[in-house]
Amino acid sequence: MNYSQAYITLTRDELLKRVASQMSEKRFKHVLGVEQSALELADQYGGNLEKASIAALVHDYCKERPKADFLAYMTKCSYPVDLIKFGNEIWHGVVGADMIRDELGIHDEEILNAVRHHTTGAANMSLLEQIIYVADYIEPGRDFPGVDEAREKAKTDLKEAVAYETQKTLAYLVKKGVPIYSRTLETYNVWVAQLE
Ligand code: GDP
Ligand code: FE
Ligand code: FE
Ligand code: FE
Repeated sequence: MNYSQAYITLTRDELLKRVASQMSEKRFKHVLGVEQSALELADQYGGNLEKASIAALVHDYCKERPKADFLAYMTKCSYPVDLIKFGNEIWHGVVGADMIRDELGIHDEEILNAVRHHTTGAANMSLLEQIIYVADYIEPGRDFPGVDEAREKAKTDLKEAVAYETQKTLAYLVKKGVPIYSRTLETYNVWVAQLE
C-alpha cells in the first residue's frame, strides 16, 4: 500500500521494515496490534485511516533507544528541564515524535502529536490522538485487569475510553509511587476530573 505523499514518502512495506529494525519481535507485534485497533477505531469514528495506520506503526519507534541518545537529543534541541528528569517511558513519545520527524520524514503535525501524546494524553487531543492513545491501551495483545472494560467503552464512546484509561493509568502510577509527568496530570484534570 502507498500512503499519501503528504504524510510520508515511504510505502507501508518500507515503513514496516524500518519499524521492525528498531525493536524486539514482541514489541513489533504490539505495534501491529495497535495499528489494527487504530484502524477499527478510525473506521468507527470517522478518522483518517492512513494517518491512523502511520501513527500506530511509528508510535513506539523510539521505545528501545538508549537513554544517552535521548539525553543528547534533548540537550541539542532544548527541552523543558522537568522532562529531562524522566526516562524512556516518557521520552519515547514526547522526544520520539521529533526523532521520527527527523528520521522518517513525517511532518504532519497531527501524526506527530499522536506519537507525542500517546503515553501521557493531553488536555486537548484531536480525534487521531484519542484513537492512538486508546488503541495503544486496548490492542488485542494487551492483557491486564480492566482491558475488557476499556475495549467495551471504546466501542461505544471514544471519549469515555480516553477518560477510563487516564484514570486507570494515573491510579496505577500513584500506587507504584513513581513520578507523574505534568502532562499526565493535565490529561487527568480535563478528561477525568472535568476541570476546564
Ligand atoms: P507502551 O510504550 O506501549 O508500553 O505504552 P505507553 O507508551 O502508553 O506507556 C509507557 C509506560 O509509561 C507505561 O508503563 C505507563 O504506565 C507509563 N507512564 C504513563 N504516564 C506516566 C507518567 O506520568 N509517569 C511515569 N513515570 N510513567 C508514566
Ligand atoms: Fe509507547
Ligand atoms: Fe499508552
Ligand atoms: Fe505502545
